[in-house]
Amino acid sequence: MILASVAAACLVPTCICLILAVRYDRLRTEYEQNKANLEWYRDRFGNEMTILAENGEEVTVLADGQEASTSQSGEFEADYSDIYISGATNPEDIEGTRYVYLTFDDGPSSSTDKILDILDQYNVKATFFVCGKPDEKYTDIYKRIVEDGHTLGMHSYSHKYSQIYASLDSFKDDFEKLRIFLYQTTEVWPEFYRFPGGSSNGVSKVDMHELISFLDEQKVTFFDWNVSAGDDKAGANKDTVYANIVNNIPKFKHCVVLMHDAADKKYTVEALPEIIEAIQAMDDTVIVPITGDTLPVQHIKK
Ligand SMILES: [Zn+2]
Repeated sequence: MILASVAAACLVPTCICLILAVRYDRLRTEYEQNKANLEWYRDRFGNEMTILAENGEEVTVLADGQEASTSQSGEFEADYSDIYISGATNPEDIEGTRYVYLTFDDGPSSSTDKILDILDQYNVKATFFVCGKPDEKYTDIYKRIVEDGHTLGMHSYSHKYSQIYASLDSFKDDFEKLRIFLYQTTEVWPEFYRFPGGSSNGVSKVDMHELISFLDEQKVTFFDWNVSAGDDKAGANKDTVYANIVNNIPKFKHCVVLMHDAADKKYTVEALPEIIEAIQAMDDTVIVPITGDTLPVQHIKK
């Protein structure tokens, strides 16, 4: 009896400790994941942003994950109060097919042919938001993007923020120069645009809504992203690019994935086959190019 009591007195606290240790570990992992996500958002959008909560309502959050306090007038004191991530869905609510749009910015480059070879190998169609590069060595690459069945989108001719976003007129000039250049090179009249730095770039001297109205007049739809490879961040490598994409896709039903097609982003090319394999292995998930029917993912509301 005494022995049993002593044994119980030892065993019970040990078991409780073990259970608590496991629970602590799980919470710790969850915390680290949330922290990494918030850092990404802070990087992208500054200290405050509006997100779609799981109940479908829009909530402004601070970078530490706390809900933003309201000012005395009752309005949010956010610099980017109209930024939101569309397509955010509670994973449990996802029914039916998940659509993944792989998008590559900044090309063409010395990496484009390798990216196209990989896409071809996996029979995957993607979207290329390209810039204006009149050098003859790129002519065939623009053409190949189209001939291989991918979507050709625009990403500004010059990619120089100080020029493009200096005024509405300079934005228009750059836009028209690229659209005509792409038409002359590929005979495709592009209908999709990705703003350099995204619609939430925060550096434009012009109200982004003015630029968006101009795109509307041109019957051009702009696309931001809700999943980012982070391949333009310092310290990025094959593993971070893979994890940033594959771990975040399950959060969305419509995933517009931002990657870069650039000579100095070799790890994006290196990670691409495994990324495609992982996506193709996900249930009810397909990789498709952006078309006129695609639900846009936009950081700024019209
Ligand atoms: Zn870019």
